[in-house]
Amino acid sequence: MIIDRFGRQFQNLRVSLTAACNYACTYCVPDGKKLQPATAELDGEHLLYAVRLLIDGAGIEKLRITGGEPMLSPKFEPFLRGVCELDLHDVAITTNGQFLPKYMPLLRDVKFKRLNVSLDTLDASHFRSIARSGDLAIVLQGIEMACEAGMKVKVNMVPLKTANFDQVVPLLDYCLDRGIELRFIELMNMGHLKLNDQYEKDFVSLDMLLDAIRSKYEVVPITAEHDSTSIRYEVVGRGTFGVIANESEPFCRSCSRLRLSSNGHLYGCLSNTKHYDLRPLLSMPYPLALNELQGVLSSAMGDKQSIAFTGETTVMKFIGG
Ligand code: SAM
Repeated sequence: MIIDRFGRQFQNLRVSLTAACNYACTYCVPDGKKLQPATAELDGEHLLYAVRLLIDGAGIEKLRITGGEPMLSPKFEPFLRGVCELDLHDVAITTNGQFLPKYMPLLRDVKFKRLNVSLDTLDASHFRSIARSGDLAIVLQGIEMACEAGMKVKVNMVPLKTANFDQVVPLLDYCLDRGIELRFIELMNMGHLKLNDQYEKDFVSLDMLLDAIRSKYEVVPITAEHDSTSIRYEVVGRGTFGVIANESEPFCRSCSRLRLSSNGHLYGCLSNTKHYDLRPLLSMPYPLALNELQGVLSSAMGDKQSIAFTGETTVMKFIGG
């Protein structure tokens, strides 16, 4: 197992099934180009093989299936069934929710428990101007269905000063009414945002966010779950929410994440373009591949930032958000 000087280990793996997405969110997808996969994406069997190697070689305990939009990929069902049979403490999915109603029977069948649904606004026209596609009503229907099926649903919102800041309180109300935890994700200075001044124009800090919420609610900090990247708060008497405050309260010192992109590249850090092609290992005998993996993991661990995310031209939908 690789452990660095800060005691960091890889425990959480994010796997991007495909870089293609049916949305083209303004802050994520450059040029508004939807449905673009990465070149030479791995098939489901090779992705599963890579995941097995990473469980055994890196000590991965938790896995999140993401993308791009994971439910857009034909690999989604076989991959999900495959990972549910592996020795993992926790499997979760991050999705934009457009295919949630379609996949609800599958999720029920594999007794799926944890889902994060990205939703930046409850206003149907603003929804289209941020996501540049999609149907808000389907996302809301999917969330209701997942809650009814007993899944633990979290909603992810990226607050943006120029696009959806007025939705912070309505989205919180929506989640509190349903016992859903809302997670505000601070905008990260990635991809095309790094190339112009949009990041500065849109960034909403933790303080600004809390001020907006405190205009309506009494809010107190609460202890976060162990190993959580979010700072959690209680809306007194109503429920909880979390903030992933990448900028305002960086958590690189305790980052345990590793990312596998849909074309088999391993990334140790979102704030670093360095990556390692796992494809040669996927045709090696298992013991040899495990052995080779140790050097790769050691390099990937060395790519982590020691203090804070510094921004990078890497695009979330390619690395796996
Ligand atoms: N398609 C899926 C979805 O929409 O949840 C999974 C992939 S998406 C890249 C994962 C998450 O990354 C979404 O919640 C999205 O809002 C977030 N994201 C993308 N670009 C971001 C950025 N620059 N800063 C913060 N979050 C970002």
